[in-house]
Amino acid sequence: MLTNKSFLLKTEMNQKSNLLLGKIVSSDITQKLSSSIKDLKNKNIIPKLAAILVGDNPASKIYIKNKSKFFVKNGCESETFNFSSDSNQSEIISCIKQLNNDDSIHGILVQLPLPKSFDDSIILETITPKKDVDGFHPYNVGKLFSGNPQFIPCTPHGIIKILDYYKINTSGKNCVVIGRSNIVGKPMFALLSQKFETGNATVTMCHSRTNNLRHHTLNADIVVCAIGIPNFLKGNMIKKGSVIIDVGINRIVENSAKKSYKIVGDVDFESVINIASHLTPVPGGVGPMTIAMLLYNTVSSAKLNNT
Ligand code: NDP
Repeated sequence: MLTNKSFLLKTEMNQKSNLLLGKIVSSDITQKLSSSIKDLKNKNIIPKLAAILVGDNPASKIYIKNKSKFFVKNGCESETFNFSSDSNQSEIISCIKQLNNDDSIHGILVQLPLPKSFDDSIILETITPKKDVDGFHPYNVGKLFSGNPQFIPCTPHGIIKILDYYKINTSGKNCVVIGRSNIVGKPMFALLSQKFETGNATVTMCHSRTNNLRHHTLNADIVVCAIGIPNFLKGNMIKKGSVIIDVGINRIVENSAKKSYKIVGDVDFESVINIASHLTPVPGGVGPMTIAMLLYNTVSSAKLNNT
């Protein structure tokens, strides 16, 4: 009979073996990118990102700072263009137009969400599709949905890379994507349903108006949860042996934590871990992939625009 201690150890080992660790996949991707970055450098090209930050949303500032640090750490460059929330939209548009024509810039992103007074679509559509490394321009959305993508939005692309890395077969599987945002849910739906190697799934997209969500998730072989509600998906909502991808990044108050808050996902880790065959933890799961895929897209752009 297992003692309490060995039982706990066994559970811990089981837990470790069924975690899909984006931080490992992200290192693998940056490692593979390093030779392309070196080749570009030999031609005097340094992949460079231009990041546009509007307003003073603290989370957006942190995201931009982290992206910039990550680029520099990997031998690339990043420059941030700051605008106050009372700037005129036309100032941002003219900055983007200049960046579109600047040969030293390979990727342009606008950190979302923008303050309410700005029109996201007009601003995003100003970015030239060939430097649209977030993949949000309607041209790139259309390319993805028609099965011939140029730049794929970073978070769903990162999820595909995790599935590839861990050899999780998606072909013929029932997948449920919860959440229909333009940045995660819709491109995730497009990727999983395409005739791609990691694709060919039967995909159901759920959202806040879905009736009986549990009926769908209980039938799913793979669930991608991207809704922004802490610990929403519980163990009793999923099928034994299913693969669960937790996209959520939610800050919840926790007085015992060092920073008085902790980050949790949209999936209730404790109740799901022993039912799922695989699960992405938060943090350390999908999060590290988003930034790695931004680097991937920027390096691809530098290669594409210089051949
Ligand atoms: P949005 O707020 O844009 O979209 C949320 C989606 O969830 C909507 O489609 C909404 O439905 C749906 N939804 C809300 N409540 C429910 C419910 N009770 N049942 C079913 N569906 C529901 O979110 P994002 O896609 O931008 O982000 C989702 C989460 O992922 C957030 O926690 C965010 O922080 C995180 N995120 C993480 C990233 C990473 O790098 N790991 C990158 C991007 C996001 P409806 O359309 O009907 O309103």
